[in-house]
Order: sequence, then structure tokens, then C-alpha cells
Amino acid sequence: MAPQELDTLIDQVADLILNSRRMVVFTGAGVSTESGIPDFRSPGGIWDRYDPEDFTYQKFISDPEGRRKRWQMFKEGYLITEAKPNPAHYAIAELDRLGKLDCVITQNIDYLHQRAGVPDDKVFELHGNTQWVVCLSCGQRYPLTQIKARLDQGEEIPDCEACRGILKPDIVFFGESLPREVLQEATSRAYQCDLFIVIGSTLVVYPAAYMPEYAVERGAKLVIINLSSTPLDGQATVVIRAKAGEAMSRVVKRVTEKIKG
Ligand code: NAD
Repeated sequence: MAPQELDTLIDQVADLILNSRRMVVFTGAGVSTESGIPDFRSPGGIWDRYDPEDFTYQKFISDPEGRRKRWQMFKEGYLITEAKPNPAHYAIAELDRLGKLDCVITQNIDYLHQRAGVPDDKVFELHGNTQWVVCLSCGQRYPLTQIKARLDQGEEIPDCEACRGILKPDIVFFGESLPREVLQEATSRAYQCDLFIVIGSTLVVYPAAYMPEYAVERGAKLVIINLSSTPLDGQATVVIRAKAGEAMSRVVKRVTEKIKG
């Protein structure tokens, strides 16, 4: 994207934010790649290295080999305990401090929006987060750090210390339903907003990808900041093909400049 063209689009997004009364930010794996967490579908992403078929809920609960592979995937860098927020996460948190953020709806499980400073009650995590691991038999919850220590010591399939039940990261697997209350609240926020900003998502994973469709359906303006094209680009007021960190830092800088006049 030519620098001048990007400047113009950044300026347009800043105006849309300043004119909006309810802004929802929707994020996917692309907002976190600059924190060192690979996305799923880009070259070199998770699905270049693992077969998605191995990671269904059914396979996890019925097949120890499926569990072993899943824990191994987590151990090999997808546990993301060390990842830190990047400029895109901080920019979104700054928009909240400026009073411009209704909420973040995220597909991510990395907890980086909260680490950057967005309050917990403003982040709707459609796919859960990796802070906790839960026992599917007795419901005992363990902090991820505790389970990670066991994996690092060589355990391949950690089980529940209380009842030896199956442990599962508290995230939504393929074939599992989304947390109902979170989905309901996110849907309602999407319907009510007047500006919906997508950052780093291919918009192909449903039902998450319904959110921008709901917003557009009710007349909200749509902004998409993503390195590759998405099925909703044609409906967006602004599409920015640039890295989320750079684009969002510049958007917030512009918003701040305009507020100061
Ligand atoms: P995706 O992997 O399908 O797509 C990511 C999109 O982000 C791509 O279109 C890519 O071009 C774009 N992108 C990558 N880096 C970018 C950057 N620096 N700036 C702007 N755009 C960038 O991800 P998705 O649409 O979020 O869906 C995949 C599913 O994977 C989600 O459901 C999510 O739960 C899960 N996931 C989460 C994480 C995480 O928590 N960080 C990581 C990988 C996958």
C-alpha cells in the first residue's frame, strides 16, 4: 500500500472513530502475530504444521493420541504464556482510555487485550482463553502456568490431580459450542454499534464471522485492517492492507491529534 494512500485511509478511520458513538473492535489471530503468535491460515501458520482434523473436541476426549498431539501443539509455542501485547493491542486499549471503545470481540485465546489494559468486562472472548485448564470430570480448574510446568517436566498428557479425569484447555475446540452468554452479549453489541473495526481476521470462522455481518446489517460502518483480503472487503467503508501494529498506532495518533485540535 503506497504511503500516501495509507495516510489518507488512516485519517478516514480516525474521523470515523471520532464520529462514532458506539465502536466495536473485532480481532482475530492477525492482531497477535506481531506478538510472535502465529495465525492459522497465513503461510507458516498453525495449519501448515498441524492437521485441523486432529484437533476436534471429539478426538480430544475419545483418543489419547489426539490429546497428546494437542498438548504437544500447545507446548510448542501455542501456550503463549510468554507473549506480550504489541502496538495494536496497546492502541486498542488507548482508544478505550479515550472513551471511544464500546468493547472488543475477539476470536483470540491469548488474553493480550486484557494484558494491554482493556478491562476484562469489555473483552468478549468467543473462543475462551488459555489462562485456565479445566477437568472434564470434576470441573477442577488449574492455572495454565501450573500445567505448563508439568508439560515442561516431560508429561505428555497431563490429567487431573484430584480425580485423574481428562484435562482440557478452557478454550473452544472444533466441534464444541461457543460460550452462550459471551456469544449473546457479543451479538447484541455488534447489532448496536455504529462502527465496527475488524483487525487481523480472515472472517471465515463462523459463528464469529457473523459479528461484522450483524453490524453492517444494522447500518454500522465497517473498517477492515488485514494483510489479506476477506469476504467482507466489498462492504467496508475503509480497507487497510497493512500490519495491525503500525496501522492502529497511527490511527490512535491521528485520533489524539484531532482531539487536541
Ligand atoms: P486466521 O489465521 O484465519 O487469519 C488471520 C488473518 O490475519 C489473515 O487474514 C492474515 O492475513 C492476517 N494477518 C496476519 N498478521 C497480520 C498483521 N500483523 N496485521 C494485519 N493482519 C494480519 O485467523 P482468524 O480469522 O482469527 O481465525 C482463526 C481462528 O484461530 C480463530 O478462531 C482464533 O480463535 C484462532 N487463533 C487464535 C490465535 C490467538 O489467540 N492469538 C492464534 C491463532 C489462531
